[in-house]
Amino acid sequence: MKIISSIAEMSALAEAWRSQGWRIGLVPTMGYLHQGHLSLVAEARAGNDYVVVSIFVNPTQFGPNEDFLRYPRDLDKDSDLCREAGVDVIFTPPAAEMYPEDFDIYVAPDELAGQLCGRSRPGHFRGVCTVVLKFFHIVRPHNAYFGQKDAQQCIILERMVKDLNLMDLTLHRLPTIREADGLALSSRNVYLSPAERQQAVVLRQALLTAERLFAAGEHDSAALLEAMRQELTKADLARVDYLEIVDTARLQPLQQISGEALVALAVYFGKTRLIDNTLLREK
Ligand code: AMP
Repeated sequence: MKIISSIAEMSALAEAWRSQGWRIGLVPTMGYLHQGHLSLVAEARAGNDYVVVSIFVNPTQFGPNEDFLRYPRDLDKDSDLCREAGVDVIFTPPAAEMYPEDFDIYVAPDELAGQLCGRSRPGHFRGVCTVVLKFFHIVRPHNAYFGQKDAQQCIILERMVKDLNLMDLTLHRLPTIREADGLALSSRNVYLSPAERQQAVVLRQALLTAERLFAAGEHDSAALLEAMRQELTKADLARVDYLEIVDTARLQPLQQISGEALVALAVYFGKTRLIDNTLLREK
């Protein structure tokens, strides 16, 4: 396995692979890898000749009061995990090379960035689209892998591929990997105190409540949201950022669910913001 930090070197290698007809899979991450990331890597390994994992804590997707500086980093451990998982290249460019001083052009979603996480994280999805598009240009993947845990990110990136006509590239959306008690794996879970960690299961429990009521025939969003809110009040350390039921194309709030809906929530425990979601589908 190679660790490449130069954009020119990564790009030349990707070009060489492409010219020989090899297929490239890319897993973009911010590092501090866990089983959620590794599930994407396994899928990439199975479906491509070469697998690149990018590890880059992207400054442009963090707001001024967010956790960019204290975001956990451990390249040595990440390298071991990637080597064991059969990754060919870790691409970890320096921020100064990704964003030179005169950097000026960003790619930004419009309507989709104003919903859900976009409301409390203005500029976040502009940063995400910009960095992911840069990685697509540098690594030239045929396949790229993302987690349903970040549902809005998946929806926005799928739209970016469609709206900007990125040809010869397939995005794969893979299920959320969870701890035994249901908490979605996240690099940010290390921020939680033991008490917060214990209470963090309410995110999943609220989503399961919605799934159960929906399966029993409740299709009214207000009723589902109220039941979820009740569940969340069991955690006295939790502060709800948002709790919404939206359509899966435009992310607009739904009053009644017919077809498919995304139930998404973000909850603060102290300064730590956790997100989770589930899809409801009519049988
Ligand atoms: P991050 O390093 O948090 O930016 O995540 C990199 C990729 O891993 C994104 O596509 C995430 O959606 C995905 N991911 C993060 N956590 C999980 C999880 N628990 N299960 C599946 N995918 C995940």
